[in-house]
Amino acid sequence: MEEEIKNEEAKGLNFVEQLVKEDLEAGKNGGRLNTRFPPEPNGYLHIGHAKAICMDFGVAEKFGGTCNLRFDDTNPVKEDVEYVDSIREDIHWLGFDWGDREYYASDYFPQLFDLAVRMIKEGKAYVDDQTSEQIAAQKGTPTTPGQNSPYRDRSVEENLDLFTRMNAGEFEEGSRVLRAKIDMASSNMHFRDPIMYRIIKTPHHRTGTTWKVYPMYDFAHGQSDYFEGVTHSICTLEFVPHRPLYEHFVKELADESYCPRQIEFNRLNLTYTVMSKRKLLQLVKEGLVAGWDDPRMPTISGMRRRGYTPQSIRNFIDTIGYTKYEALNSVSLLEHAVRDDLNRIATRVMAVVNPVKVVLTNYPEGQVEEVEMENNPEQEGSGTHSMPFSRELYIEREDFMENPPKKFFRLAPGQEVRLKGAYIIKCEEVVKDADGNITELRCTYDPESRSGLPGASRKVKGTLHWVSAGHAVDAEVRLYDRLFEVENPAAETERDFREMLNPQSLIIANAKLEPFAAALGEKPGEKLQFQRIGYFTPDYDTKPGALVFNRTIALKDSWEKAKAKN
Ligand code: ATP
Ligand code: MG
Repeated sequence: MEEEIKNEEAKGLNFVEQLVKEDLEAGKNGGRLNTRFPPEPNGYLHIGHAKAICMDFGVAEKFGGTCNLRFDDTNPVKEDVEYVDSIREDIHWLGFDWGDREYYASDYFPQLFDLAVRMIKEGKAYVDDQTSEQIAAQKGTPTTPGQNSPYRDRSVEENLDLFTRMNAGEFEEGSRVLRAKIDMASSNMHFRDPIMYRIIKTPHHRTGTTWKVYPMYDFAHGQSDYFEGVTHSICTLEFVPHRPLYEHFVKELADESYCPRQIEFNRLNLTYTVMSKRKLLQLVKEGLVAGWDDPRMPTISGMRRRGYTPQSIRNFIDTIGYTKYEALNSVSLLEHAVRDDLNRIATRVMAVVNPVKVVLTNYPEGQVEEVEMENNPEQEGSGTHSMPFSRELYIEREDFMENPPKKFFRLAPGQEVRLKGAYIIKCEEVVKDADGNITELRCTYDPESRSGLPGASRKVKGTLHWVSAGHAVDAEVRLYDRLFEVENPAAETERDFREMLNPQSLIIANAKLEPFAAALGEKPGEKLQFQRIGYFTPDYDTKPGALVFNRTIALKDSWEKAKAKN
């Protein structure tokens, strides 16, 4: 299979696209192509869903077909309209659109119920009065056959009567189920009289209290595909063993002229996070994160809030591709895609995250010069903005060392550095408070060293970012890191996943921003590069006069290595 996949990829199509192409060429389903993305509205979408979305919508786009959005809302206990709304928003944000093809499995409850009744009448389904424990105990194992239920041979009349009464609310939850009568000795465990319907009395977010019986995934999914005209039902590998049952149920409705087909690809699993909706919900409910859209979450809404772009997510998914075997993908690949895209689009600004004051003792008091800064060297025509320079400045505390090692090219007593876009300065004196903490660096500047002046070409080894103290605007910056401190939390069986959370995943600092950056910070969605620090975006908590930025991701390289240009 791996070999086959490689050959197909050589032709520029992934293996799913290849199969779809073959079906289209063979004229199956009248040459129609219709996929669907079928989320259950029981949580927010995560990056794994993004992989499925790119596949479902992507293949339809590629071959001129359509993709439905179908909410798989068959379990009212866990579902909510909040999730429906967030799912719509996230798919649109990723850049896909389902037009007017928004459907709900609950739309098909009447047809599914009718089909169940028909199957009862044909002797293909029966009501079982046993508990789920009893049913499980009779299931057998893959190597030993199961046992028939004592209720398996009920009369059609009794089954119809009981099923109708189940739906009328006459029986308690868990007291009865409707099962398909297939084969308790089948080598495929899913064929051992699978459950079709269960009783649930929680009201449904769309159908209210109309129904008291709800179809199981296996009975609902294939039929919903059929009712909608879906031709290719693309899902993840865990559904491979369900496929024969999918086909079994679909045959109750379909014929040669139109029959949906299930194709499976590998799930996305990422290092340093979890992808299970149950676990993500737990993190939200227990307040271990700030919500589904906490920037540390692997959710699409979290990534959006953090400043990831849809393009970077799509590029990442293209890079990892689609295969037939499970794997764990490195989050650094995703981070690489994010940096790549932000490097292209982010506006360069100056911000000092951990400031220490610099006073230029030979610079005239009260004088302010404007320095021109490039907005984005990666983008032609992105222009410049000006930044004030004055006698009192801030630089990054870690850009100064009192007793530096040999190769420290930043600021140190008696040592020179260039302030990016401005002058060369030299540290003359270190001022400390009573506890020995550095409070101020007293420096001199070389008045000839600014661009356009005779000393502009003078070389020094380090270049630092800086802001003018009198003009700087304060901002809260939230420095995010990976949510978990272990590579694959899902694989650890000894510890609860919550014990593996990274205690350093959020650090809050107070930064000093150049005025231009502060102005951009009031625009939601703006993408900034705090030079030498990382990529940042305004957080939703930002208010005029109280700026909050999220660090999307740190920069890989700092200027020292890349050697300063001016
Ligand atoms: P659960 O069924 O446990 O609630 P789920 O993550 O499978 O969780 P669904 O809402 O059923 O959630 O998923 C919708 C679609 O997204 C399915 O087709 C599923 O196969 C796909 N999907 C879910 N998780 C991933 C993943 N990690 N990688 C790729 N596709 C995924
Ligand atoms: Mg699922």
